[in-house]
Amino acid sequence: MWLVMSFATHTDVKIIHIWFSGWEYKRGTLHCNGLSLEELRLRLRQKYGHLGSPAFVYSSGILRENVKKYKDALQPLGGRGKLSYSLKANSNPHVVKELRDAGVTAATTVSGNEILMALKCGFLPGEIIFNGNGKQSWEVEMAVNRGVLLNIDSVFDAHRLVNISKRLGSRAKALLRLNPVINVQTHPYLVTALADSKFGIEMEQVEEVIKILSSAKMHCNKVTTSNLIELRGVHIHIGSAISDVDAYVEVAKAASKTLRHIQNSGWPGASTINLGGGLCIAQDIPDVSKDMCNGRGLESDLSENPKKSSDSSTATVNPPTPKELVGAVLPYLPEQAVLILEPGRSLVATAGVVMTEMIGVKRNGDKEFIVVDAAMTEIIRPALYGAVHQVSYVTGPLMQEPAEFDIVGPVCESGDFILQRCQLPRPPTSSSSSDLTERPGSSFVIWTTGAYCSSMSSNYNLRPHVVEVMVTSSKDFKVIRSPQSFDDLVMKYKPQYFSVSSSSLK
Ligand SMILES: *Cc1c(COP(=O)(O)O)cnc(C)c1O
Repeated sequence: MWLVMSFATHTDVKIIHIWFSGWEYKRGTLHCNGLSLEELRLRLRQKYGHLGSPAFVYSSGILRENVKKYKDALQPLGGRGKLSYSLKANSNPHVVKELRDAGVTAATTVSGNEILMALKCGFLPGEIIFNGNGKQSWEVEMAVNRGVLLNIDSVFDAHRLVNISKRLGSRAKALLRLNPVINVQTHPYLVTALADSKFGIEMEQVEEVIKILSSAKMHCNKVTTSNLIELRGVHIHIGSAISDVDAYVEVAKAASKTLRHIQNSGWPGASTINLGGGLCIAQDIPDVSKDMCNGRGLESDLSENPKKSSDSSTATVNPPTPKELVGAVLPYLPEQAVLILEPGRSLVATAGVVMTEMIGVKRNGDKEFIVVDAAMTEIIRPALYGAVHQVSYVTGPLMQEPAEFDIVGPVCESGDFILQRCQLPRPPTSSSSSDLTERPGSSFVIWTTGAYCSSMSSNYNLRPHVVEVMVTSSKDFKVIRSPQSFDDLVMKYKPQYFSVSSSSLK
């Protein structure tokens, strides 16, 4: 659902399209599902003092809406359509539980600890998929022991799984993770990700892996044997931020072909096709550069939106919907196939923002910087992928002319920027005597930070992991992760051995 709002500026009335629902400006202040973020910010300050900002803010309503879109899309498959959440996008157990309550039926994990977290969040072992190009023995053992579905990623991974299953005397359930070569001309972004990717089995090696697996037998009794590894089907995950459903059609074709091969190689019951995750989200707001409250990055976000033309400040990118995705691949799947989709980003990104307070404004050369208290420790994606996260005021400083700023954090790295060359109305400056944080225009939200931000955050510069809250109604929110204190940070260093007493560390 798109929300259309109008803002009165000094000259005219602008219509602004916010690209997902749940976030809304009321009387100039951003609200999340009806709760004022200004009020939320003050309550966090009261409760946690200096640890009250920055904060991750998630909306349970948007999480549920995002799940529903996938559930509706998979409806035509009945019980053969499965929605698996990729935990690495955001592994906060409260977020995971919310998604599970909303109808996510499985969890895709990439480490032993993620398996344990999925179990803690209520997923049954049979509802967990374990993927990875470098699974360690303890992780494989745990997955086999508990009956988790494993994606076999390479020849060595196949050998290891066979050896561990033999030793444990336990049959393992597995999919083959394939690395197919997909149409070079039409999908350059995907091919860069695939040509020399470290993930999956290249098609030429599939036969070798099948041989390894089919020679591993288990004795049922003295005369009959069966496969030690129960090969259930195939898995292909071609990458992230994909805006073209045609890519998935290629994937579906390659997967169906290999599935038939597996069925003919000793696993006639194999029926699972896991098409991975990777659906992009809309990152762009059309023509908000002159808007009172919203900032807008001027770099085009090629990594997220390959279809976007670079000059179009008004271009809107509509990401493919889950319904379009399923509709496109369905004709290419075998009749009785079980389809697994395992999105991360498209389930959680739009449900979260980072709320951050301004520390100050400074000028160096031709550049003006707004320094905020959030940093690359919370949002690494701009530095890591050149990703663009839009920035808006929580409460707009009305009647200020827009200017160009780089929004940066306090971390000692030049790569520590949130958004470069961003058009924003000028914030209040600190020359006035009143406390900056009390004034409109002193705090911001950084958009679409529900995915791959909290889960990628670090303690660099000894910055603590920040507080995370979930907005559950127009009146209420719950703290779903307390901020780390200094004591939390030093605990594992055995502070009792420091020359200062541990009480003076407070
Ligand atoms: C990361 C990952 C996903 C999720 O990708 P998104 O871009 O977040 O949707 C799905 N499957 C596998 C195997 C992954 O590693």
